[in-house]
Amino acid sequence: MQAVGPIFSRIPIGLQAHCISIECHIAPGLPGTTIVGLAEGAVKESRDRVKSALRNNGFNYPNGHVIINLAPGNLTKSGTGFDLPIALAILQASGQVNIPNRENTEFIGELGLFGELRAINGILTCALASTKANKCLVLPAQNEAEASLVKDGDLLVAPNLIELIKYLGAKEPNDVRPPMYKAGVVNPVSQPTYGQIIGQLNAKSGLLVAAAGGHHLIMLGPPGAGKTMLARSFVDLLPALNDQASLEVATIYSSIGLERPNHAAVPFRDPHHSISGAAMVGGGQQPQPGEVALAHKGVLFLDELPHFKPATLDLLREPIETGRAVIARAKYRVAFPSEFQLIAAMNPCPAGRSCKEDGCRCGPSQVQKYRSRVSGPLLDRIDLHVQVPELDQLLLAKLQKQNASSEDPLPRLRERVRTAMNAQLCRQGCLNVQLSGPSLDREIASAKLSEKFLRTAIEQFHLSARSYHKIWRIARTLADLDERSTIREENFLQALNFRSINWEADSL
Ligand SMILES: [Zn+2]
Repeated sequence: MQAVGPIFSRIPIGLQAHCISIECHIAPGLPGTTIVGLAEGAVKESRDRVKSALRNNGFNYPNGHVIINLAPGNLTKSGTGFDLPIALAILQASGQVNIPNRENTEFIGELGLFGELRAINGILTCALASTKANKCLVLPAQNEAEASLVKDGDLLVAPNLIELIKYLGAKEPNDVRPPMYKAGVVNPVSQPTYGQIIGQLNAKSGLLVAAAGGHHLIMLGPPGAGKTMLARSFVDLLPALNDQASLEVATIYSSIGLERPNHAAVPFRDPHHSISGAAMVGGGQQPQPGEVALAHKGVLFLDELPHFKPATLDLLREPIETGRAVIARAKYRVAFPSEFQLIAAMNPCPAGRSCKEDGCRCGPSQVQKYRSRVSGPLLDRIDLHVQVPELDQLLLAKLQKQNASSEDPLPRLRERVRTAMNAQLCRQGCLNVQLSGPSLDREIASAKLSEKFLRTAIEQFHLSARSYHKIWRIARTLADLDERSTIREENFLQALNFRSINWEADSL
């Protein structure tokens, strides 16, 4: 038996993709196929798919004992992406084809029984890794749209095994030049509902500030006041994702086989309050991103916040602080990027709808118990706190009339948000939500607010150090919305207003 070099492939694990080499040896003896190298279920089933695909495309399946080795042997292999490289390794070892430029090419794809190539999960992770390693990646045509986000990638797509072999065989070894892809992603954000929401000026200005500075926000108000509608309309204010961000988001979705219809759209996730901790931050047998990662560069909306399990809410603290969700299990340790904006909503008391009509009838201890399900440390990390009162019907009718005759404010607001964001990126390289250290100190120093004014504010509002810095960040965003270079007293006062809910006593 002649020795032939391996066929290379990739396996996505979390957001990394490892290079795998696939060797095939055909030994004399009873016919059979063995796959070694820590192969799990789906990989073992690969031998049946490969056998059918080869036979149905006019190739011979070797008569001897076929041994497939997946290296490195200490890495668990799962998924269906090895079908194609295994098929090629068998064809190569049995002398039926000679794959050109083998050492600089990686193959990935699931095979159907008739040789058609099917999409695999995590193709973006693989495409990025192959590109980084200066390799050409051959992938299923079904994955083309997703992989095309890697703009400088050396990618070759194939619809099925036979087309691929024809293509490879028809060229000289060094002449395999894949087509380049240019993905045009331009996108308007969702429907403009923000401009159509009547009243709730305080909540709306909170959302505007949250959008402009990347701040987290919580709304407190009775059922039916429009909290959910306000939260959903929030993305209308945000600019579409840039190329880098949409690539990051698509990589996360791709790792679990989810495709987003519009890559530039800002992600909006609103998990139900029954969600488990693992589903929220990620986990599972194979590392899977949770809701916080699926909301990366977008919005995580948690409605009825106190109904979530306190333990699940506590898991949010780390990703809010660090922008990453780290999952450590016995078999792996991965980190998913999780820079999301948290928009939360809650009722003032546990009875919800039944307390709405003629005031709250819940006892203080019931209200206290309900609110304490949301921990102080979590509330502390949410920058903006806004009340959303129920609107008087008469006032509502009046406002509705006014709103109908006035023009949609959304285009102008979007522009203000965009301008404010750019000003922040220009000045400090990040949005105000991340403003800290010397950059934040510089802003505080240049604001020139009187010592006495600040001392009074700290005392009256019982500000913790964390809250104090948050208020400066919010004030900076308010100044940015006004296109001002320094923070003024009125910005600081307005910012204080967004932290003024007394969570222990207030009700609406
Ligand atoms: Zn009540």
